[in-house]
Amino acid sequence: SSLSFPEPKKAQIKVLVRIRPAQNKLKPCSLTCFSGEIQTNPTVEKLKNQRKTFSFEKVFGQNASTNEVFQEIMPSIEKVSLGGRTCILAYGQTGSGKTHTMSGLIAESLSHLSKLLKCEETKVSIQCIEIYNEQIKNLLRQEPNIKNWMENVNIADMKFEGNWVPEVIRTVNEAFSKRITKSTQSNENSSRSHMVFTLIISFRNYEGTIQFVDLAGSERLNKSQTKGDTLKETVQINKSLSALVDVIGALESKQSHIPYRNSMLTKVLKPTLGETETDVNAIMNCSPEIENYNEAICTLELGSRLK
Ligand code: ADP
Ligand code: MG
Repeated sequence: SSLSFPEPKKAQIKVLVRIRPAQNKLKPCSLTCFSGEIQTNPTVEKLKNQRKTFSFEKVFGQNASTNEVFQEIMPSIEKVSLGGRTCILAYGQTGSGKTHTMSGLIAESLSHLSKLLKCEETKVSIQCIEIYNEQIKNLLRQEPNIKNWMENVNIADMKFEGNWVPEVIRTVNEAFSKRITKSTQSNENSSRSHMVFTLIISFRNYEGTIQFVDLAGSERLNKSQTKGDTLKETVQINKSLSALVDVIGALESKQSHIPYRNSMLTKVLKPTLGETETDVNAIMNCSPEIENYNEAICTLELGSRLK
């Protein structure tokens, strides 16, 4: 007789970098990119003097359009039309362009899927939630906080048929605008919550799943954030982001145990990061200004670890 081992989980992980346009064109920038490479050039003395070079599958500079980014995730989206799974993540400090990138990619992905599949033959279910301090809020419906995710949240929260693309885009945009926002030093409308938009698409006998994840700002704790709610938020954000990194690491090294139970974020991402073959597309968003240099380095270092 032979011993049987659990099937290794297969995952294809792609890490992309996007630098948003500088908000003040007169100020020096700390990042330059050449195709798949990104180089740091800290020109201010007090910032570390050394240059660093990182390489990624693809680096999108300040002038790149969301459509160019979409071209890189398109193969994963096309697999979804035939029953595949993909998780598309935007990671980065507040103000680095995560929401801009994610909402653009959602629109591009939906319109591409609708061109690929006949709308009349497709059924779509969506769910849109926010995770704030390990609590889930449904952004599609008015509901009290959801205590037990496993029991109470139906992934197929809203269903669409027919000409579903404009309706779904409108619904998601509304959901985006309902997120909890709070001011921080770096951006007045910064988001301290994760948002997860899940789309299940059924076509003939196939059922594919995409999860679009607009993560909370990755900035670290600083001196002015060491009290009260902000401290709790930052601690929870750091915990969930590291749980996410652990799950991606486990998928990549084909471990049979995926530690998705360590945070609400990873539990919610189980449909695309849990048990089956999946594509992970992580977009590392960076702000190019000198004052964001240290955070950009952290984002790029984390991205390098994910590959
Ligand atoms: P985050 O979600 O990471 O906090 P946002 O997506 O809100 O960041 O972006 C911060 C600001 O920069 C917004 O005003 C947004 O419209 C703008 N922005 C971000 N990325 C781009 C881009 N690629 N092109 C043009 N404007 C952008
Ligand atoms: Mg945002």
